[in-house]
Amino acid sequence: MIIMLEPDSARRDAIVEAIVKVAERYPGIAAKSYEFTGARHSFTEVHLVGPTAGVPTAAFESLPGVSRVVRVSTRYRLIGRHDPRTETVGFTYNGVRFDDAAVLVFAGLCAVDSPESVDAMMAALAREGVVTTRMGAYKPRTSPYDFQGLGKACLPYVFELAGKHGIRVVAMEVTDARHVDEITRALAAAGDPTGVMLQVGTRNAQNFELLKLVGQQQRFPVLFKRGMGITLEESLNACEYIASEGNPNVVFCLRGVKTHLGDPHRNLVDFAHVPVVRRQTRLPVCIDPSHSVGRADAAPDGLSDIFHVTGQGLIAGASMVLIDFHPRPEAALCDGPQALRLEQLPGFLAYVRTVRAAYETLKTPG
Ligand code: PEP
Ligand code: MN
Repeated sequence: MIIMLEPDSARRDAIVEAIVKVAERYPGIAAKSYEFTGARHSFTEVHLVGPTAGVPTAAFESLPGVSRVVRVSTRYRLIGRHDPRTETVGFTYNGVRFDDAAVLVFAGLCAVDSPESVDAMMAALAREGVVTTRMGAYKPRTSPYDFQGLGKACLPYVFELAGKHGIRVVAMEVTDARHVDEITRALAAAGDPTGVMLQVGTRNAQNFELLKLVGQQQRFPVLFKRGMGITLEESLNACEYIASEGNPNVVFCLRGVKTHLGDPHRNLVDFAHVPVVRRQTRLPVCIDPSHSVGRADAAPDGLSDIFHVTGQGLIAGASMVLIDFHPRPEAALCDGPQALRLEQLPGFLAYVRTVRAAYETLKTPG
């Protein structure tokens, strides 16, 4: 059971205390309060766990300062949007705001291959005023004979160049505790010039030990990529795992699902789920058009399918885009066919702004 307080209550502590007092009347019930800070409001909830079936909601509904009491099944207790009026809470990390108020574009290399590629990519982002990027160092690949990423060897120059170009957050996949340690050490050695968002890749969407690991630390936010062969509900439960371990700073990323019915795209684009995830959870929603489509071919209108699906995700309310670029896609060691060229970056950003502006005119204010 979740008891929600009126937002921004000045009497928060007293109201929580009154709720806890009432909860204590029921044997076996534990109460825990959670604070969420959104862009406009802060919210407090008291979660009751234990045999709540015998606890009447009316016992709390009548308390002053309580706005709503909902019975929830154990699923999505923390990430769920239990009240449609609640805003997407989001979080701020290293000066960058993650919520649904604006679109963040994480454009960068699928896999780091050289300091020159990283420098060229980040210089292009800096020219456009973009402070967020993706840089894969640890690449889980389908074939053991494919390039696995440069690993910790590339971290010093990735972080140093990020500092040089004013990049504030680098999204980087991790598959193991060792990777988080290596990132932490490399950041410290470089003087913490940037921030890192830990990516849980689609292949690890149900790696529960990894989910717990990224959930047990709060230094880095997490970009969770939907499992390509599991249900949406299973992927959302994976995010609940992360939050339940103590890290609420999670973004949910749609990246397509595996089926030959998506051919000739690499995956079947699943951006119709953007509004579903937004309705069911309070997580900011990201789309990854590159891994969804898997190829950079243009349609007769001159726009690549990658642009078109980006538009589909943004017009549906996504507020983050993870996208592959490369200075020389033909020479990229990983996923070159889906990488856009650096010359396409200004046009891509203009496209994002146009679609987002259209969305802003279409949505009804919350
Ligand atoms: C990636 O973003 O680099 C990646 C490997 O994506 P996914 O886990 O969605 O395949
Ligand atoms: Mn890739």
